[in-house]
Amino acid sequence: MKIAMIGTGYVGLVSGVCFSDFGHEVVCVDKDPEKIAMLERGEVPIYEPGLDVLMAKNVEAGRLSFTLDLAEAIKGAQAVFIAVGTPTRRGDGHADLTYVMVAAEEIARTADHYMVIVIKSTVPVGTNQQVKQAVKKANPNLEFDVASNPEFLREGAAIEDFMKPDRVVVGVQNERAAEVMAEIYRPLYLRDFPIVTTDLESAEMIKYAANAFLATKITFINEIAALCERVGADVKQVSKGMGMDGRIGNKFLHAGPGYGGSCFPKDTKALARIGQDHSVPMHITETVISVNEEVKRRMVDKLLDLCDGSFNGKTIGILGVTFKPNTDDMRDAPALTLVPALVGGGAKVRVTDPQGRHEGEALLPGVHWVEDAYKAAQNADLLVILTEWNEFRALDLKKLARKMATPRLADLRNIYSVKDAKRAGFEAYDSIGRAGFV
Ligand code: NAD
Repeated sequence: MKIAMIGTGYVGLVSGVCFSDFGHEVVCVDKDPEKIAMLERGEVPIYEPGLDVLMAKNVEAGRLSFTLDLAEAIKGAQAVFIAVGTPTRRGDGHADLTYVMVAAEEIARTADHYMVIVIKSTVPVGTNQQVKQAVKKANPNLEFDVASNPEFLREGAAIEDFMKPDRVVVGVQNERAAEVMAEIYRPLYLRDFPIVTTDLESAEMIKYAANAFLATKITFINEIAALCERVGADVKQVSKGMGMDGRIGNKFLHAGPGYGGSCFPKDTKALARIGQDHSVPMHITETVISVNEEVKRRMVDKLLDLCDGSFNGKTIGILGVTFKPNTDDMRDAPALTLVPALVGGGAKVRVTDPQGRHEGEALLPGVHWVEDAYKAAQNADLLVILTEWNEFRALDLKKLARKMATPRLADLRNIYSVKDAKRAGFEAYDSIGRAGFV
């Protein structure tokens, strides 16, 4: 089967590479000439573990190619996937559908045979119908169907998630489109990974409901963590005890500096807007959005306490700026709230991140980038663990403490403990939802 993939970002590129690994012929299209040039040279524009090897294998096998030319990509394709960005629209929280609609119109202008137009981007309920109408209007003679196929992969584990999904969700309107989608996902179906087939609207809704639920779970434990600090409980023990209940589950129950990333912030905002538009307010999701902002602000207060009430003139080392480990993605990362607050407060900020520098340099002006945690700690007054990269999970705390001017540690991912910090010679330690010391 020939597939065209429009958009070679985190979702489009991973999906395109994985579909080609299933054995399909895949042509990936992007508007960004720099990205396509890199891909044609065999370079991967994003950091995603394992993607370079899988991409090279399938290019070599002749099943995977890249182009700027959409018409060329969709020639003979049975399915064309739209995997472009749907960021938050400036000002009102809605998902910005400009890229999706532009892609749909480009398909309509050039398509000349039956195909299924599959929307992989996360889009509000009704968008698939909107795309259908737009394509019909632009090319009344085209025979086509639309299908909704939201993506659930996680950056940093994207290939594993795509190849071994908990489920694949496919929204269709008729048997013909369902058959094309079944053919695309046959390798997964044969290996017993469930395919959930729904109508278009339910598929669109599943994605937002799932992301809002996960954001709620994280925010719930972050709020419990704040209470733990006041009442002398330990949120790590609390989430362990809660998560062992099969009805609750232990995932997404780790307290931290607030959720960020390319999906949860924008998708919770979009769901809240969809609710408002339909006069069914999403009270829980709206509360989650505002509590998450509070969580991030609370982190600034924590750091301020560890700096005796002022950042001015302090040297602060930051370990990790990406929104989570194993990605270079900085979109809506907690670092984007925290670091400017430190710089704005007059601190000298030293930053290290295994993959975040390329994205982070433009987003975090006024900081000094260093190679590793030990360089970040040199003569610092405070060290902050912000992203739980493996590189920061087994640090030589004694060595770090020795390098610092005032050895103080803010462990915003609860990697270490009071005992570890005291033993290493730190004079102050704070984490999330647990007692610290000064
Ligand atoms: P991204 O910004 O990384 O990539 C989008 C790509 O589309 C860019 O390379 C851009 O140049 C390209 N593009 C835009 N318009 C185009 C056009 N008309 N023709 C060709 N290329 C075009 O976005 P992403 O993170 O991959 O997200 C894509 C969608 O998938 C979003 O709706 C997102 O919500 C959803 N999603 C993302 C993730 C994730 O972890 N990133 C997970 C699940 C779902």
